[in-house]
Amino acid sequence: MTRGARLRLPRAVPAWYRSRPLDPSPAEPRHPMRSRRTPRCPACHLPVALCLCAELPRVAVRTRVIIVMHRREAITSSNTGRLAAAVLEGARLRVRGAVDAGPPEPLPPGRRLALFPREGARVIGPEDATGDVVLLVPDGTWGQARRLVYRDDDLREAEPVALPAVGPTRYALRRNRREGTVSTLEAIAAALGLIEGPEVEAALIGVLDLFVARSLRARAGDFPR
Ligand SMILES: [Zn+2]
Repeated sequence: MTRGARLRLPRAVPAWYRSRPLDPSPAEPRHPMRSRRTPRCPACHLPVALCLCAELPRVAVRTRVIIVMHRREAITSSNTGRLAAAVLEGARLRVRGAVDAGPPEPLPPGRRLALFPREGARVIGPEDATGDVVLLVPDGTWGQARRLVYRDDDLREAEPVALPAVGPTRYALRRNRREGTVSTLEAIAAALGLIEGPEVEAALIGVLDLFVARSLRARAGDFPR
């Protein structure tokens, strides 16, 4: 083949580019290609046959957890922030950057902590259990979460706190995770374990393990249709 002939060939468009929605919007959730054939639960995003919503516990906590989710995270089926919002009493989910989003709901009263290891963050601990605590948690990829911390007024103005060293993640649903990071649900579990007690942490880790197991079954096509 001559050089000229090669140049005239149409440029291949990668498959992932074609399959991507042009304008992902949390108002109209779109899912990866395989899910177009499989009806998914709108709440947990698992295939309906694997839906875990009816099995989720209700976890009583004093801390008010506010999950500030990146809008791109809102359309992924591997997100764990929405699980935390579903099981924790008093928790709220705020999707940031959605096209039709109005002003964010005012935060509940209390001392505001932002859980992200930004510069100047101190380690969260049992001493944070005193008084009313509002724990703001950015939810997205590492890069998205970092940007949220600087762009969201409430996250930026809250006192920055970080987890002590965390163990290896139990979350097996995303590749190329940044070394030493954990999923949003694990981060919340570890933080509430320190503030509220180990039983709260254990309950949340149980939810995560269930979600990971079901998600892996969904990927493998291991469910009744
Ligand atoms: Zn469900």
